[in-house]
Amino acid sequence: MPTSFLPFSRPSINEDDLQAVRDVLCSGWITTGKVCARLEDEVSSLVAPSQAVALTSATAGMHLALTSLGIGPGDEVITPSMTWVSTVNLITLMGATPVFADIDRDSLMVTADTLAPCITEKTRLIIPVHFAGASADMDPIRSLAADRNITLMEDAAHAIGTRYKKRPIGSEGTAIFSLHPIKNITSGEGGILVSPDTKLTEHIRRLRFHGLGVDAYDRHTQGRSPQAQVLEPGFKYNLPDMCAALGLSQFRRLETLNDLRRQRAEQYLELLQDVDELRPLKTDFDYEQTHAWHLFIVRLGKNRPGLDRDAFMEALKERGIGSGLHFKAVHLHQYYQKTLGLTLGTLPHTEYNSERILSLPLFPDMTEEDVCKVVTTAKEILA
Ligand SMILES: *Cc1c(COP(=O)(O)O)cnc(C)c1O
Repeated sequence: MPTSFLPFSRPSINEDDLQAVRDVLCSGWITTGKVCARLEDEVSSLVAPSQAVALTSATAGMHLALTSLGIGPGDEVITPSMTWVSTVNLITLMGATPVFADIDRDSLMVTADTLAPCITEKTRLIIPVHFAGASADMDPIRSLAADRNITLMEDAAHAIGTRYKKRPIGSEGTAIFSLHPIKNITSGEGGILVSPDTKLTEHIRRLRFHGLGVDAYDRHTQGRSPQAQVLEPGFKYNLPDMCAALGLSQFRRLETLNDLRRQRAEQYLELLQDVDELRPLKTDFDYEQTHAWHLFIVRLGKNRPGLDRDAFMEALKERGIGSGLHFKAVHLHQYYQKTLGLTLGTLPHTEYNSERILSLPLFPDMTEEDVCKVVTTAKEILA
């Protein structure tokens, strides 16, 4: 094993981050409070007119949103199978039926064309995923949903700082960001739901804290009323200040961190031009967008007998380079194979990618030399 292992992702933590967390720890108030409120205010100003609600994870945000929308038995929710399992798990746990739309082969994202055939009388909700930091083509998806009176919720776990036609993701509808440590900015664990629908955000504030008729932290009383009543049974998904402090400090560097990712991604794109076996996702979209470069994904060419994707990842690891798999298609996971029983070939572009993709190292503190090392090593393995 080489001595220095290059992970596929590593959070970028600086002195400001350390000081921000230290300040909270020394303040005497470490759970949800002023700092969380500040994080929500600053994220709200990025995604205005949407309002932000901070939670313990994006998964928690999905749970609360599905709860608030009353998604349950008899309802169908359309989402790609090329996504993280959390969304499909929650749809299933709510008693609803996940319906998978196929994706564009080279962007890994659903389009209005792949979504349309999945719509039935029972469709209540569509959850597109902005993949790897790129934006899905939202205008056609938005009008498709509006025409059929279906709610739309964007999985923006990869897309904090992404813009679609100059508009920040999250500013035009309900969206959920993740602050998990591999995402573009982190609070340790955390998530932020944003929506222009204030009835929804108010409801989610209540649901995130036991369903009490107050927020986890009341900005006016600097705490909360001990006499608060349960208005409906709720959950415990409030983000502590200890985490919010890290999230806020990172959020203030969002542009810088995303720029560093972009530089490394552009370097990869250039160096990989002559490597036919590793094909990146598409970067030339026919709509304007700002890519947040959450992941750098390549597809391994299949015309190489004896070298499959898993073996390639293993070979990288042996040479000191980490890689990720985002994602194995959800319908191919054991539980969903058993319960949904979709036959192979139902989602051709999803399945094509599920067996070929891998994520190369990409994080803000990576150096130019690191990128060169990854590409050189990949070429060695391929040779
Ligand atoms: C990370 C991720 C999530 C879940 O985020 P958590 O904050 O870990 O709950 C959801 N969807 C996608 C596409 C993700 O990558």
